[in-house]
Amino acid sequence: MNSSNGIADGIVIDQASRGLVDAVDLLDEIFVAGHWRQGSGAVISSVDPATGEVFAQLHGAIPDDVDEAVAGGLRAVADSGWDRWLPHERAAVLRRIADGIEANNERIAVLQTTDTGKTLTETRALAASAAGTFRYMAAALETMEGAITPSRGPYVTFATHEPMGVVGAITPWNSPIASDAQKIAPALAAGNAVVAKPPVWAPWVTLLLARICTDAGLPAGLLSVLPGPGRTVGEALAEHPDVAKLTFTGGTDTGRHLAHIAADKLMPVTLELGGKSPTIVFDDADIEQAVAGILYGVFSSSGQSCIAGSRVFVQRSIHDRFLARLVAATEDLRVGPGTDPRTQVAPMITRSHRDGVAAMVEAARTQGATVLCGGEIPSNPELADGAYYRPTIIAGVDNSADICREEIFGPVAVVLPFDDEDDLVEQANDTVFGLACGIWTSDYRRAWRIAGAVRAGTVWINTYKQFSISTPFSGVKDSGLGTEKGREGIKSYMNQKSIYVDMAGTPLPWAGGA
Ligand code: NAD
Repeated sequence: MNSSNGIADGIVIDQASRGLVDAVDLLDEIFVAGHWRQGSGAVISSVDPATGEVFAQLHGAIPDDVDEAVAGGLRAVADSGWDRWLPHERAAVLRRIADGIEANNERIAVLQTTDTGKTLTETRALAASAAGTFRYMAAALETMEGAITPSRGPYVTFATHEPMGVVGAITPWNSPIASDAQKIAPALAAGNAVVAKPPVWAPWVTLLLARICTDAGLPAGLLSVLPGPGRTVGEALAEHPDVAKLTFTGGTDTGRHLAHIAADKLMPVTLELGGKSPTIVFDDADIEQAVAGILYGVFSSSGQSCIAGSRVFVQRSIHDRFLARLVAATEDLRVGPGTDPRTQVAPMITRSHRDGVAAMVEAARTQGATVLCGGEIPSNPELADGAYYRPTIIAGVDNSADICREEIFGPVAVVLPFDDEDDLVEQANDTVFGLACGIWTSDYRRAWRIAGAVRAGTVWINTYKQFSISTPFSGVKDSGLGTEKGREGIKSYMNQKSIYVDMAGTPLPWAGGA
């Protein structure tokens, strides 16, 4: 049966994806102010990156939906009194959402693998981490405290926090359920409504999350999900006068643009942006451990990770030996569909994104770089329809080359030599980004020195790409503004309020016309 918007039942599932997606009851609807309905925006087609087949379609949102969702969010807060629910009452809802995510782990994982190409191992872990985020924020909310501050007069002074109203949350396609949870859980915990704008390349998981939230008893209207283009729906959300805070994860150019919108409105904004993170190998490192960590750090998620350790600095005394070992290990990585449990490097999000990565590698070649492995689409005919790219190691350039400057967001690492700590720190910091850094050494004093000297939001020593919701996450320079996660994460969705209460009962000096 054709829908009124002309999409046959809104869903087209190719044979290869059918087995996976049949387990997931996709809706071709958006979620506006507590109501599921067909969008009236352009058609969003979700393509299975492993096969190139469209597996689902829906009509996206339009800017008018933003008005309705924001007004609905304000109304929902007022009608339900969500902002006045006691912390343990809101926390109970968050815990039920966590239960719902856990109960739906396999559905979420299958959906996200079909939508983004990621391995099932990774998408299962992302769903588990999203549940953990809701549970952690519930605990943080229940134990959050205000302060009675030292008084400087005959009064008691309280430092408290209160909800902001409606929060706009804009997310990218590379880890949808985890990015969603990282924003929606603390924003709801803080007593706000949330209008989420998921990416057009991977909108389904956020819509599924909205259903889990509803089933968990989240009052209707507190969460809207409006998939649609950033330039229209995303900007309308950022510009809306009743959106009190914007939280964004995505590219640096987009983030900078949104920061300008936020500046005009004087709206607080949290930005989690791009990276070009250095991973450093000293000559005293455990080589096998470093090789394994570098492979995981740059090639997991097919390199489509903001924290990918894409600039590998190796101490000159071991450079050639280490590079040979790294290239051999990279050639052994298994490229394949995310549904194959043996796969390590899955397809990229779309063929057009893959082609963009390939073009950057070609440009580096033209500029004199040596491609030591990868640098091409796999020749395996079984992979011909997917958005695959072989994991790639590049050398023979210096840190000023474009391939060392620009975020590639694909399975590409550049290896560079360094001489000593001063040379290393200068090169590592010679980038506009400041998101993450990895250090491989057996000398912990040196690791500590380098960790302090490299400008980055997160440093891993003898490990990489490990995360904990209890540990704050942020970027410096062009990698971001503000912090997510951790106990203080909830407060970034609240306004600070101070209250003075007189205890003296005597008139202030100007009483009686003094
Ligand atoms: P993107 O900036 O193109 O899009 C991100 C989101 O912003 C999408 O939902 C998109 O529709 C929306 N958007 C785009 N233009 C907009 C506009 N003008 N106004 C409002 N919204 C707009 O980024 P992407 O390609 O989806 O994601 C990849 C980028 O995200 C990479 O740079 C990566 O490093 C970054 N990222 C950062 C982190 C982090 O935590 N620092 C995590 C994941 C991804």
